[in-house]
Amino acid sequence: NRSDVHYFGAGPAPLPTTVLEQASQVLLNYNNKGIGLCEISHRSPEANEILANTKQSLATLLDIPDDYDILFMQSGGTGGFSSTVYNLVSIWVEKKRAKIAEEVGDDKEEVLKRLRKVVDEELKLDYLVTGSWSLKASQEAARLVGAKHVNVAVDARKSNDGKFGSIPPESEWSLTPRKAGGPAFVYFCDNETVDGVEFPSFPASLEGDDAPLVIADMSSNFISRKVDVSKYAVIFGGAQKNIGNTGIAIVILRKSLLPPTSAYASAETLRALNLPVGPIVLDYPTVAKNNSLYNTLPIFDVWVAGQVMAGLVTTYGTKKIGGQEDVSNEKSRLIYETLDKYPDVYRVVPSKAARSRMNICFRVHGGDADKEKAFLAGAEKKGLLGLKGHRSVGGIRASNYNAVSTDGAKLLVTYLDEYAKSA
Ligand code: PMP
Repeated sequence: NRSDVHYFGAGPAPLPTTVLEQASQVLLNYNNKGIGLCEISHRSPEANEILANTKQSLATLLDIPDDYDILFMQSGGTGGFSSTVYNLVSIWVEKKRAKIAEEVGDDKEEVLKRLRKVVDEELKLDYLVTGSWSLKASQEAARLVGAKHVNVAVDARKSNDGKFGSIPPESEWSLTPRKAGGPAFVYFCDNETVDGVEFPSFPASLEGDDAPLVIADMSSNFISRKVDVSKYAVIFGGAQKNIGNTGIAIVILRKSLLPPTSAYASAETLRALNLPVGPIVLDYPTVAKNNSLYNTLPIFDVWVAGQVMAGLVTTYGTKKIGGQEDVSNEKSRLIYETLDKYPDVYRVVPSKAARSRMNICFRVHGGDADKEKAFLAGAEKKGLLGLKGHRSVGGIRASNYNAVSTDGAKLLVTYLDEYAKSA
């Protein structure tokens, strides 16, 4: 039974039971129309209202400034990697092209010749690689634009025995220098789901007057803490952890990256430069211009996300996402505190300063496979499910997303205590 278990899976992850109960109703009969939400047009007034309300709840929770747009896409978190590359590289190229054209005039061949040289020498995408998701994002960038254009400004494995688990000090990062024009963008993953590494705060070296465009993947810590949205060019994340069910990704985008403020390179120019032309469904201007309805948006998924967010708005009132942040911090504090109490039994994988509040990764008895199996079996008997670590790293991972209740976290703590004492 649903009420007998607590699920700590890393995503898809639990959703509030009240939302799921309502969901089962709206699937059959939305707003007494006699037809369900998956059956009505994404262009209907009902769908438009759902879209508007969901955006409003998100804007309220995160205090999203007016000069930001919210897009819904079906690309998942992974599509988020690719779309940032396609779009921001296109903007970067067009800026360079326009500048060269100003100097050279109408001679298209000459413009292209010079532009090719500029791209060859100056196009840099900076990636902070602090875990397997930022690593994947950097690999996707290299696949799309070529490895020579990808600057891995930091690879956290290098200072940690070849493993992820820390965030090296900013003084050790090798960002593309601003005085050399800077990178087209700097990319990081705010919370690394597999490795349990979370940025404690916004990196200071990405701030300032001539700050680069900053992109953050917040798939696994979206709406779990306050975020100063104005510091980011793009924030994106798949919905299936803190927000809703699988099927949509949310993109929060600075409006100056959209026309008319930003111009994008033409497909012809990109092709001539051997740079990729992105699929239309990943094209920010197209999606934004059409209020995320360029193609058929799964409105049911948006509805679920909207219900989850509206629930948080109601629960936390004027504290907004700060209310959820307090709860998330407290739940993770309880769990880490208990793990730290038994150093002979448990070892938290990431370093203290980089510990994620969302994905708590640890080993039992130094990673002894049989003992970890027994630990998981004991947890399962207590109704504590989904604790197995990612297949690539093993161990135990307790994902502590918003829908994991404080009671659930406390039951896990009780089990951690019991197991350690009997070990
Ligand atoms: N980024 C992060 C931080 C993730 O945790 C995940 C999925 N676990 C992804 C990206 C990829 O998301 P998707 O599977 O929706 O493509």
